Amino acid sequence: MEKYQKNLIENIRKQISSWFETEKPQDISNLEVYRFLHSITGTAGTIGLNEISDVARYLFHQVKEEDDVLWAQKSLRDYLMPLLSLCNVEETNEISTDQTMTKSVLSSKPLVLLIDDDTTLLMFLKEELEKHNMMVIAISELDRAILSLYDLRPECIVIDVYMKSKLGFDVLTHLKETMHHQLIPVVMMSVDNSKETRIKSFQMGADDFVSKPFDLDELIVRINRQLERKELIDQLVLIDELTRVHNRKYLLNIFEQLKNDTKDSFSLAILDIDHFKKVNDTYGHPAGDEVLKSFAQFIKGKLKTYESIIRLGGEEFVLLLPKTNSLNAKIYVEELLKAFSQRIFNFGDEQLKVTFSGGIVEVINNDKPLSEWLKKADSALYEAKSSGRNCVKINNSEQKELYKKLIRVGIVDDDPIIRTMLTEIVDKIQEETIQLDIKSFKDGLEFFNSDWYVSDDPYVIILDGIMPKMDGLEILQKLRSERKIDQYLVVMLTSRKSENDISRALQLGADDYMTKPFNLLELEARLKRLIQRLK
Ligand code: GH3
Ligand code: MG
Ligand code: MG
Repeated sequence: MEKYQKNLIENIRKQISSWFETEKPQDISNLEVYRFLHSITGTAGTIGLNEISDVARYLFHQVKEEDDVLWAQKSLRDYLMPLLSLCNVEETNEISTDQTMTKSVLSSKPLVLLIDDDTTLLMFLKEELEKHNMMVIAISELDRAILSLYDLRPECIVIDVYMKSKLGFDVLTHLKETMHHQLIPVVMMSVDNSKETRIKSFQMGADDFVSKPFDLDELIVRINRQLERKELIDQLVLIDELTRVHNRKYLLNIFEQLKNDTKDSFSLAILDIDHFKKVNDTYGHPAGDEVLKSFAQFIKGKLKTYESIIRLGGEEFVLLLPKTNSLNAKIYVEELLKAFSQRIFNFGDEQLKVTFSGGIVEVINNDKPLSEWLKKADSALYEAKSSGRNCVKINNSEQKELYKKLIRVGIVDDDPIIRTMLTEIVDKIQEETIQLDIKSFKDGLEFFNSDWYVSDDPYVIILDGIMPKMDGLEILQKLRSERKIDQYLVVMLTSRKSENDISRALQLGADDYMTKPFNLLELEARLKRLIQRLK
């Protein structure tokens, strides 16, 4: 029987690939869809694939044979998702239909960064912690973990003290030297439970210490305590830790206040540092931090007492300028820009000048919420960025395009069902501030032969572990050795059985992995989370 089941799924695969993976997207005739579903309904039930048969029947009954219509690829893909997700079987024959977790629960899970060079423990802990409502990114290499801190912004770090070449203490040193302004609780783990090691850990800033072997329940409680502590503090704080100006939370308060207090209009400006990523890439993140700090303090020093500067996040700031119309605001911000861009930053022997772009909106109609005004200012910012940066634009009322960051998502898998499914899932992760470029590849050769993967944009690459020609591990290795280490966020798809592969993937620098067959909601939430973190 199993042979026939495999065969049917193989046929579904073929059909899916012929529909969705043609060079030129073509609409699909309704009759074809009708016949496809009809045939699956019959066959699947006969050979014991009852769930597939049920879902196919359900879909089949909604398609009318006589309808002479065409299906667009996207809508057909959407329509067939329930069926595809049931065919999401590879080496294993398990079918994952566990959809009990809701999306909101999944996306609000705290992110824990787990660093240990013992990949067996890494896998074990990841699995266990994820059962307890955390999202875990497991990294086996210290340097890469440190690099990823800025992009991932974990809510807690759990780290092994002794690793092959390096000491976990290095993370503490790094946090202390460069990110001391951000509260990220750190839990140290160590086989060496000596007093010296414990004292050293705490002296260097660890928040907790757990000796190995540990009791899992206790570790989970301890991590949870750190997460609660972080959440509480985050809720209380209204000042951005790095730049010492107000943060996003404060913006909400002050905006409401301004709206209520004054009848006059006021201006809101978004300032975004130009090519900031290059500063990080060229001079390192500490230098980037330095630029952010002096930028914020510089502007703050120029503002009048009733004006405010707020860090929205990353290298984006908001200015609130009461009693100022947009024309005056523009002149004002242009003056700030001129003064700031003349400053010289010294990094080692090198000197650097930094500019920013600005988008302004005059807040008049007080009924609209803050988010609407931010969007408008953002759209003006987009204009400033696209007309060469280092300038300030006013939003001329009606919404044009938003400034969207491009993130490229590559899916490399030899199974057309998985490719189609993943494309559909990623496609759903649409957000106002990002634009996704999704592309799927049959194997590593196709991936490397296309020039798609060599731009300067950030990438999320989803790699199948096992593929003919060049498998996921080889792709990962090649990517890591040839390309910039932190430009590609790599997620491996592996079968639950292949622990060796997972362990290899972690050693080679995968940022995350998921086991097949996967739970769709969980997969969506995970990818969403990773993509958001790249914003
Ligand atoms: P553009 O001119 O189009 O705005 O390009 P950009 O490079 O300034 O903008 P992009 O949004 O691509 O890059 C922003 C980078 O800022 C990405 C992120 O790693 C980095 N970043 C975010 N927060 C911090 C931080 O607190 N410190 C440092 N050093 N870097 C940060
Ligand atoms: Mg920028
Ligand atoms: Mg930006």
